[in-house]
Amino acid sequence: MCGIIAISGSDSAAYEVFFGLMNLQHRGQDGAGILTLETKSGDFHIHKASGLVENVFSERSFKNLKGKAAVGHTRYATIGGSDPNMLQPFLDYDKGIGLAHNGNIVNFYNLQENWLSQKNARNKQCVSDSELILRLLCDNTDGKLNEVKFFDALGPIMENLVGGYAVAGITKAGAIFGFRDPHGIRPLVFGQKEFNGETVYALSSESVALGFLDFTNIEEVKPGEAIYISPDRKVFKKIVQSDSISPCMFEWVYFARVESEFSGQSVYRARFRLGLLLAEQLKQAGITADIVVPVPETSRASAIALAEGLKVPFRELLIKNRYVNRTFILDDQQSRQEAIRRKLYPIAEEFKDKSVLVVDDSIVRGNTAQQIMRLIRNSGAKEITLVSTCPPISSPCYYGIDFPSTQELVAFGRTEADIAKELGADRVIYQSIEGLQKALESKNLCMGCLTGTYPTTVEDGRVFGDARAKDRITRGETN
Ligand code: SF4
Repeated sequence: MCGIIAISGSDSAAYEVFFGLMNLQHRGQDGAGILTLETKSGDFHIHKASGLVENVFSERSFKNLKGKAAVGHTRYATIGGSDPNMLQPFLDYDKGIGLAHNGNIVNFYNLQENWLSQKNARNKQCVSDSELILRLLCDNTDGKLNEVKFFDALGPIMENLVGGYAVAGITKAGAIFGFRDPHGIRPLVFGQKEFNGETVYALSSESVALGFLDFTNIEEVKPGEAIYISPDRKVFKKIVQSDSISPCMFEWVYFARVESEFSGQSVYRARFRLGLLLAEQLKQAGITADIVVPVPETSRASAIALAEGLKVPFRELLIKNRYVNRTFILDDQQSRQEAIRRKLYPIAEEFKDKSVLVVDDSIVRGNTAQQIMRLIRNSGAKEITLVSTCPPISSPCYYGIDFPSTQELVAFGRTEADIAKELGADRVIYQSIEGLQKALESKNLCMGCLTGTYPTTVEDGRVFGDARAKDRITRGETN
């Protein structure tokens, strides 16, 4: 998972993209980059490095990042770890196209092999699926891209790519463009604003980044749709290829910022409804408690709703150290466990002799949950019920979320009683699939990691998952 943003027509494109990336930081903390274009001269400028957005860019880097069009990226490594060659945006100087990508192309290894065997690949590299998208786009265009050539080039590309992807890019002529996979697995939004008598356009992974920058009329790029904003500010849109609509349910449950909105569904409202539905489930099961405690930050809206629904006091008793980054998107088990240990601290006396409903957004590997159960137990709680707003995650994700192998997933092959024992809770209660669909007001969702049924071919996903596991072993990561 990564964050992408592109802006055209702004006098301070690099700064705006930077602040956009600050609002997409939660989507990836491994690295960041900005590519800008000076339209008059056609000169590109790029700066990218490993680390958090605020550490990657300085006043000095902005002196070089000139131009009225820019594209930016925050990296979340699902493959390639901290390899600097993986940092985005990618740029092809010859064809004058640069782009940033969020997602995973699951048939990447096949496509990479084909591409590398072709004549035009000589002296070129193709290190990742993101770079592959750029290479394919460049191969299918002649360096004088316009909307017609762009849409024509994308047809065969989208036919061949299998996976979840959203792309934003810029061209040497000063156009910006974006497109989204035919299932709409990964998100992309489009917005505009008036500034100094000019219309400024932007594309981004999440509406919060554009809203923060005062963009209005923010709408979703449709599944399989491509958008091309020409250098003279004309907007062209085309559905290049469409398929069954299956946006990733995990965007609402965990990944996206609570201020964002996808498919007309506010993330906040979806999380609140998840909590209300869990309250119904608990009432029916006759389960209650003295207090409801959220695991910060993502589960807060659901925990408030659960507490309201059950008429049980809501208490924020697990305090997060805001200077420790999100644990789930650190890329190896050891760093994740260490980060959890440093991240949360309980207000122990408030837990003493209480029965507690602890609300977490999801339980993936169980690292965070296990640590939290220990903290609460050591604080003297008499009973702990762990409530997950997401149904059990028991299958891999092939579309950009880093839980690739079943062995890592605590719900795989275990009953709820087994999971509770493994995590140190008295019981574990999961959201139902029906509850999730009800809360998100849609049945058209990717739920592959919950059901084992995926929007794209499973074989491609398995090949990709195996290759990714090998890549991790090669880099010495343990899971
Ligand atoms: S498999 Fe799960 S995490 Fe991956 S895209 Fe589908 S719903 Fe999202």
